[in-house]
Amino acid sequence: MELLSTPREAGVRAAVTARDLVKVHGRGDASVRALDGVGVSFGAGRFTAIMGPSGSGKSTLLHCLAGLDAVDSGTVHIGGTEVTGRTDRELTRLRRERIGFVFQSFNLLPALTARQNVLLGLELAGREPDPAWFDAVVDALGLRDRLRHRPAELSGGQQQRVACARALVGRPDVVFADEPTGNLDSRAGAEVLGFLRASVREFGQTVVMVTHDPVAASYADRVVLLADGRLAGEVDRPTPDTVLAALRHLGGA
Ligand code: ADP
Ligand code: MG
Repeated sequence: MELLSTPREAGVRAAVTARDLVKVHGRGDASVRALDGVGVSFGAGRFTAIMGPSGSGKSTLLHCLAGLDAVDSGTVHIGGTEVTGRTDRELTRLRRERIGFVFQSFNLLPALTARQNVLLGLELAGREPDPAWFDAVVDALGLRDRLRHRPAELSGGQQQRVACARALVGRPDVVFADEPTGNLDSRAGAEVLGFLRASVREFGQTVVMVTHDPVAASYADRVVLLADGRLAGEVDRPTPDTVLAALRHLGGA
């Protein structure tokens, strides 16, 4: 069992561990070293935000952690299972069983109702939903009276809440979210962030979220900073002010 070493994380079990991750996009002169030796762990039952300048590798890191993108070297483990070096077929199964993902652009299937979208992953995995858990998630997200609607009949905030339900309904080891409030107004964004935080505090979920918004990051227990594809610092118990200060420090201002 991997334990985290930073003071506030000491003794917290790691849900996700990345070691020496390198990821190069493209080839030759046009290649970009998006991850340049990233080693980081994310505590189980904790809400961690990943921040850093645009292009610093945040999305690449999240995609590599979730097995959505292959690394060039290094390893990723989720709950003791190695994600790196898997076949596509193994990865598909691992993602269905162990990982939830919330995208900035919701990524719901337009022809399916909210309920069908939430349950699709379980259905594909041949798993039965736990009705009590389904109800708890749907009620926590305020989606009870929206389950028969298709995405086009829902607001952006409601669509993202459906995407959150989809990510959580299988009780994954970890939920990754890439700028989940990036397409929402501040009120809808606050609802999504409040839910992600509640999923950690009340349901014991592990959440790792990329954001560029210091207010969004302040919902997390910990902020990990990236710059130029490398770890560049951390903020424990972040507030918008301490996050802003850390980002300014990164920028050298
Ligand atoms: P962030 O999410 O922090 O804005 P990204 O992980 O999206 O950063 O990108 C990191 C770097 O990798 C950037 O320089 C970006 O242009 C480059 N990059 C990302 N995806 C690709 C890709 N598919 N092909 C080529 N370069 C990419
Ligand atoms: Mg990004």
